[in-house]
Amino acid sequence: MHALEQKILNEGIVLSNNVLKVDAFLNHQIDPVLMQQIGQEFAARFKDAGITKIITIEASGIAPAVMAGLELGVPVIFARKYQSLTLKDDLYRAKVFSFTKQTESTIAISNKHIHSTDKVLVIDDFLANGQAALGLTDLIHQAHAEVVGIGIVIEKSFQSGRDLLLNKGYRVESLARIASLTDEKVTFIH
Ligand code: 5GP
Repeated sequence: MHALEQKILNEGIVLSNNVLKVDAFLNHQIDPVLMQQIGQEFAARFKDAGITKIITIEASGIAPAVMAGLELGVPVIFARKYQSLTLKDDLYRAKVFSFTKQTESTIAISNKHIHSTDKVLVIDDFLANGQAALGLTDLIHQAHAEVVGIGIVIEKSFQSGRDLLLNKGYRVESLARIASLTDEKVTFIH
C-alpha cells in the first residue's frame, strides 16, 4: 500500500535492526486519514470472505481494526491485555509472549462477543514473530469460530511470524512488508 509505505519512509524511525517506531501515525499519535485508507484496503482484500467479526489486541490494533470494521460493516472486539475488574468471568484466555516487552502476558475476551458461527478476521498493527496473532487465533478457536484471515498493517518479513502463520494454514494480508531495517534504512518487499 503506497501511502502507508511513504508514511513509514517519511515518519518511521528505525530503532534497531528489528524494531521500527511509528509513534507519529499508528502507535501514539494516529493519522485518521491514513487509518481510513488502511480500513478500506483491508475491506477490499477481505470483502468476499464472509467476515462477521474483527478481533484485535489493545491498544494499537484498535484504530486500523475499527476502520476495517466500519468498511466491512461488522463489530470489532479488542482483546484486553490484563484482566480488568469488569472483565472477570466467562473469558477465553491465551498467553502471548510480547516482542516489544520480552515478557509473557495473558490476553482475554469475554465469551459473550464471539460465537461458533462467527467468521473472524484478525487485525494487528505489526507482525514480528507471530505470537500476538497466534494468541488471537487461539481465542477464536476456543469459541469454535472460524479464522478467515489475518490482516497486518506492517509486517517485518525478515522475522518468523509470516511463515509461522502461513504454515498453520492462515491467509495473511500485510499492507506494508518490510524486507529489512539495516543501516537505519527501510526497504520493502513488493
Ligand atoms: P509478534 O507477536 O508478531 O512477535 O509481535 C507483534 C506485536 O509486537 C505487535 O502487536 C506490536 O505491538 C509489537 N511489535 C512487534 N514489532 C514491532 C515494531 O517493530 N515496532 C512496534 N512499534 N511494535 C512492534
